[in-house]
Amino acid sequence: MIETTQRAKAGCALFYFRDSGGKHETTPGQYVLLGQRRARDVGVQLNCTPEQIERMIHDGVATDGDLYLDYCVTGNTLSRRGLDAMFERIRNDLSVSHVIFPRRDRFARPDDPLEGVRLEDSIRQLGVTVVTETDILRPIRKGQRRDIGEVVKSVIDYHTSGEYVRELSSKMIRSQIARARQGFACGGRAPYGYSRYLLRNDGTVVQRLQDGQKMEMAGHHVRWLPDKEQEALVIKRIYDELENGDPAGVVAARLTADGIPSPDSGRRRKDNGTVHLTSGVWQQTTVLSIARNSINCGKFRYGRRSMGRLNRMTPEGPRELEDSDLRPDNQPKVILNAPDCVVEGQGQFQAIIKPERWERIMRMLDARSGKQGGRPRSRPNPVSPMGCRVHCMACTWTMYAMRYNKGFRHNCGLYQQSHGQRCEHNSVDGPLAVRFVLHEVQDRLLAPHVLDGLRARLKVMAKRELEQPKETSNLRALEAKRDLAEKNLQTATRNMTLAESDDERQAMTEVFRQLKAEKEDLQLQLAFRNSREAMVDVEAEVDAALRQIEHLNELADDLENRDALRRLFEIVNAHLFLEFEEGSWGKRPVRRLAGGVLTFGARAFPIQPYQGPTSWKVVARKPSPGAAGIGEGGSKTSPSSMTNGRKAASLRKIGRGGRI
Ligand SMILES: [Zn+2]
Repeated sequence: MIETTQRAKAGCALFYFRDSGGKHETTPGQYVLLGQRRARDVGVQLNCTPEQIERMIHDGVATDGDLYLDYCVTGNTLSRRGLDAMFERIRNDLSVSHVIFPRRDRFARPDDPLEGVRLEDSIRQLGVTVVTETDILRPIRKGQRRDIGEVVKSVIDYHTSGEYVRELSSKMIRSQIARARQGFACGGRAPYGYSRYLLRNDGTVVQRLQDGQKMEMAGHHVRWLPDKEQEALVIKRIYDELENGDPAGVVAARLTADGIPSPDSGRRRKDNGTVHLTSGVWQQTTVLSIARNSINCGKFRYGRRSMGRLNRMTPEGPRELEDSDLRPDNQPKVILNAPDCVVEGQGQFQAIIKPERWERIMRMLDARSGKQGGRPRSRPNPVSPMGCRVHCMACTWTMYAMRYNKGFRHNCGLYQQSHGQRCEHNSVDGPLAVRFVLHEVQDRLLAPHVLDGLRARLKVMAKRELEQPKETSNLRALEAKRDLAEKNLQTATRNMTLAESDDERQAMTEVFRQLKAEKEDLQLQLAFRNSREAMVDVEAEVDAALRQIEHLNELADDLENRDALRRLFEIVNAHLFLEFEEGSWGKRPVRRLAGGVLTFGARAFPIQPYQGPTSWKVVARKPSPGAAGIGEGGSKTSPSSMTNGRKAASLRKIGRGGRI
């Protein structure tokens, strides 16, 4: 047994990968890239490459440098060449500080999930940190109590669950990304001017494939290659004419007039249920879709559009569906991905057009059509009681309230306005955030010492109000007025008896009536006042007011109360600053609430909220207003150092299961 304390803190990292050699699992290199990203995250060096692992698979080697591989080994075999060699290395090499395996099912898929946990633990007990796609598991001393949440998560991860379909779709995406990167065909028919070819992995062409002909052979792959000279000439002509400034519709009409067969002419296709032969007529859209296909400049672009039901593609791998991927009826919709989310691969052939020229023509086409390209339109949004009081700490932007299912969510404004190109998909459930803030308001008011203090103070205030000198003087003034009215009335009565003419008496009677009405009115006011004073029970009124506080939480559930809540949040000046982290939902990465700061009253904000322009046109172009916001404003404070870090933690707790 070696002393784990002698082990390097940030030494070298080992990468482990197991694959059963199944058909969809063609992406070990992709996992290596993921491993490298995770190594960077934790600040260690990982010396291995996707090429290295491909070579190892090809040569049937289990270890090479820091890379340990068990290929064609099923997950429930716990004793394996690569794994055993890695344990040997860890025991003997104290410079090993981290073991990285992308996912737990790439490490082990044991029949008993606890076996997997034990295996993982045995690495950690050697003083080594285990890093997976979503978790960093620190070394543990033997006998040390484990964090229960961590154990539960491990067990669940190792428990192969009914997530199979989702899992498969995620693997398909990974595999397609890998194919796209290498310039392999990603399925579907070959584009105009190209044919599908089966190639050996060393690049030798085996055969040309017919449309729809399936061909899966180990050590082989399918590529699209340009082999149709006539069609290549047509493609060149399309670029020439578009570059001349001819509209696509005109280009299409000329091609038709010249008798050039349109793509798919003679092919049967089904439109709205009726089968018919496609016409030989060129359409504007056909011309544009050929022109826009980057394969013509030798580049494969995969993932320009996302349309999956379960997972969607990013260069990093699959991602879970987000709000913006769904239509209002919660059906998945096709969205255009940001350019940096597009996987690009090089085709291994002579391109029809040079990439620079292709890019230039694309910019021309974009400018001509004033293209915004299928960006999801935003709809008017519901009013959140929190209004603009929720902030994303990552970019300092306001988190806008957005309709979501029957409720609403607050989403990072920068992410939204930059169409997902900047910041992250940071999002918090709206009613949950409202309930949390309400709970905090209530918590502060209902804390026994606060509540007692408040009750005492309210009573003093209420009594003082009743006994206020101003109020008293008002009363006195009222009494004085009444006395004066009484006196005037008496004078008027006396004067009336002294009246010498009917006219005079008539006028005096009028004065008398007015004075009498005035006196009666004053007497009524005084009587009302006295009776009210007698009725006011200060204790009872204060208690009733305080009882309202206990029911604050119920307000959150009823959207009818939005205005009242908004006023309440205004009065206490609540601002919620939220921090997010990379997390996982099951096995899939999601943005998860990490913590935050809730401020009330005049309390200083932890960050200076962004106040610049918010239009997507500006945001998409500007380099980084979010970062500038942090720089200009106050310093960013770690939430844990804030006194209400605890509160943020409890929001996370509230959110658990609610998938914040
Ligand atoms: Zn943000």
